[in-house]
Amino acid sequence: MGTHGSLALALIYNSFCRRLPSLCSGSCSGYIGAMNDSTNDNDQTAPLTGSASHNDFKEIAHSGGKITFDIVSDASGRKSYQVTYSGSRPVPMRMFAIYATPDGEPVANIQLGGIGSPWNPPPDPSCRPVFISSDSEGLFGHQCPACGGYWRSDTARFCPYCRLEAESFLFLTPAHLSYVRHYVDTLHDGLEKVAQGQSSQVEIDLDAIVDMDAGLEKPDFYHPGTSQQTKFRCESCKTVTDIRGRFGFCSYCARRNNLADLRTQISMIRAELNSNRTPPADALRQIVSAFDACCRDIASQLSKLPMTARRRKEVLDLLFHRLDAAEVVERAFDIDLRKGMSADLPFIRMMLQRRHVFEHEGGVVTRRYIEESGDNSVPESTLIREDAQNVHRLAGCLTRMATNFENGFNEILPPADLKKTRS
Ligand SMILES: [Zn+2]
Ligand SMILES: [Zn+2]
Repeated sequence: MGTHGSLALALIYNSFCRRLPSLCSGSCSGYIGAMNDSTNDNDQTAPLTGSASHNDFKEIAHSGGKITFDIVSDASGRKSYQVTYSGSRPVPMRMFAIYATPDGEPVANIQLGGIGSPWNPPPDPSCRPVFISSDSEGLFGHQCPACGGYWRSDTARFCPYCRLEAESFLFLTPAHLSYVRHYVDTLHDGLEKVAQGQSSQVEIDLDAIVDMDAGLEKPDFYHPGTSQQTKFRCESCKTVTDIRGRFGFCSYCARRNNLADLRTQISMIRAELNSNRTPPADALRQIVSAFDACCRDIASQLSKLPMTARRRKEVLDLLFHRLDAAEVVERAFDIDLRKGMSADLPFIRMMLQRRHVFEHEGGVVTRRYIEESGDNSVPESTLIREDAQNVHRLAGCLTRMATNFENGFNEILPPADLKKTRS
């Protein structure tokens, strides 16, 4: 089209103000990456699991900002433009960029490197760079083209639900796609209308949309986030992912959050136990329940591997409050939950039997309990008085078993190599 685009950024974030030099589209160096980390310390990423207050599926306002296209037509009619982003809200904001066709179809990610590092070239010279900023928690909504699942994260390379790996422009939501079209159309209109030898300015004012009355319908290119149910920070790559449900893959490296979630839950249960707000028998039931849920979810992920229908059913039916489950997992997947734990196994067996007694027998010792647990310390028909020390020891044992399970799972479905460049 004979037009040259350039980018200038004015970022006003809290008291941080920065104007960056214009860049010619020919070399398209990326400075936006420099902003990406400006909000890291503001992330509210502590796992919300178990929190008394829930804020599921609520709209998270867009971070706002204003995108301005300064368009110039020189004396010979050669057109160029400069893009300026300015934001003034005291909220976390991140930005990423994609290439879109003149029709507004996203076709590639732009790797926004640090200052001075060039962007990857567009797939076609007619492509426009489009800048997409986050919601007001510094996260982006994503939608998986394979499973349809929605999540939020600061970086996307894997679907946290089905583990599809794709470049993040393939995870854009319908609202993002509408925004990309609007962005390209706005720029295109500005370029069309500028008269020879003149200049003009067009803008997309996301601040004005964020500030619209709640009762008014916002344009379809407005792309706020939607809070999900479990927000976690990956222990490996520190990416923040917000998912429906409790368990999922890290959106950047595909490491599962199961073990981290179990540790969080167990530490909360231990705190309640230590402060005498939860009796030991209840803490025992809660810990085994959390362990069972954590392991059943890993088993359900493994059940997606190719296997016979009979084996899949066996894997999906596993209950991890029974030690037999460990035998099935070892036979089916060569993962040894009991690795390095032989000295603890009689204790674990006894405690899992006790859980059964507390859950189903009102805490009263039965003959079956004595036979299966090997515990002769309490006579039949007597109430078991559980002590906190046992519960703490069991919590440690089950965490180690879950660690063995997750390590084995990671051998079969390894998380991504973290040395790859983030995008
Ligand atoms: Zn998916
Ligand atoms: Zn990760």
